[in-house]
Amino acid sequence: MSNNRKMKPESLMMSYGYKPELSEGAIKCPIFQTSTFVFKSAEEGKAFFEVAYGLRAQNKGEESGLIYSRINNPDLEILEARLTLWEEAEDCAVFESGMSAITTVLLEFLKPGDLLLFSSPLYGGSDHFIKKILIKFNIHVLDFKVGQSKDEILKMVNASGFADKLALIFIETPANPTNDLIDIQASKEIAKHFSSNEKEVYLAVDNTYLGPIWQHPMKHGADFVLYSATKYIGGHSDVIAGACLGSKELIKRVKGLRTFLGNMASPNTGWLLLRSMETLKVRMDAIAYNANKVAEFINNHPKVEKVYFLGNLSEKDGEQFAVKKRQCLTNGGMISFDVKGSEKEAFQFLNALKLIKLAVSLGGTESLAEHPATITHADVDNELKQELSITEKMIRLSVGVENHEDLIFDISQAFDKIGAK
Ligand SMILES: *Cc1c(COP(=O)(O)O)cnc(C)c1O
Repeated sequence: MSNNRKMKPESLMMSYGYKPELSEGAIKCPIFQTSTFVFKSAEEGKAFFEVAYGLRAQNKGEESGLIYSRINNPDLEILEARLTLWEEAEDCAVFESGMSAITTVLLEFLKPGDLLLFSSPLYGGSDHFIKKILIKFNIHVLDFKVGQSKDEILKMVNASGFADKLALIFIETPANPTNDLIDIQASKEIAKHFSSNEKEVYLAVDNTYLGPIWQHPMKHGADFVLYSATKYIGGHSDVIAGACLGSKELIKRVKGLRTFLGNMASPNTGWLLLRSMETLKVRMDAIAYNANKVAEFINNHPKVEKVYFLGNLSEKDGEQFAVKKRQCLTNGGMISFDVKGSEKEAFQFLNALKLIKLAVSLGGTESLAEHPATITHADVDNELKQELSITEKMIRLSVGVENHEDLIFDISQAFDKIGAK
């Protein structure tokens, strides 16, 4: 279609991977709400299964046939094809939630006795799965914190006694809710350091906070990019979904386990995400623009003590600024800040918001606010909360696509309610 021009993903989001002639000429991919697919002949059924189960190599030009919606479905296949474009990944697997994408990768690439190294803090669900569930399978887990140097981490892994068992590194950057950055390149160097001829240590990056437009972890060495597609990709707070991107070879293993866990997305979810992705670029552009405007206002407000926003990093932040320049393409859409005071003042602010809604989640068209210490991060133990600066006075904002002056008006009137009778 594009002859020799390499079109940008946003130009391909409406058509890539879809053949109208296979759907009565419909311009949009229909919802293939079907559990199973009719084979033209017994021979065709046999050929499809040979390929699906890897009993023989795919012939040149042979497409994998549609069999059963736990294995494949057009809405999911087209969605997966489109998701690869932003990251220029070879392949993708979509899931019924971000958690199922993350847990499937952890389960496929770890076995009893292995060591998992991960960055802290992680999304609460990931943190729980690693510390409470993986360890039941005799998988060793070790975390490192923002600001720890590569050498410190290497020493720590060596001191753990399980360095030769390191199988996977899992990081999340920027960290939620403080926007602290983890260096993707340095994480890959750690993975390489512990790789050998017998075993490759893989690096998985949860890119939910900045992706797919604002950060491309595979360009910095990631083997897997993971998403809660519930957030920016879905973007309308009306669907739960997840995705994993990587090489053909690795995604084949991910899809293999997905087939047997049965945690693929539904056709309807696939269709909703196809629709969402047509506007992903324009939504995220608008959000990044709004976030800069809102941060500028919050930065200068007398009732604010500290702001955690990527746009506030500068030369004096040293390594964090260097990492930001290297791997973040914008300042993102998430702003956290400490109000002057404590929980009381933070709650007064939250309760006074009108346009901005009080809810968890992020990356949607509507702006959301929440109180990490008692909501999203309620079960982080107190000591770690202090260490991570998740205090009672912290508010987290997910900026949406509304008019930025209206957002600032709402935030401004809510600040005015702090301390008011
Ligand atoms: C929301 C979120 C998840 C979990 O995704 P679900 O779609 O809710 O299962 C994982 N990681 C991050 C960073 C998230 O924000």
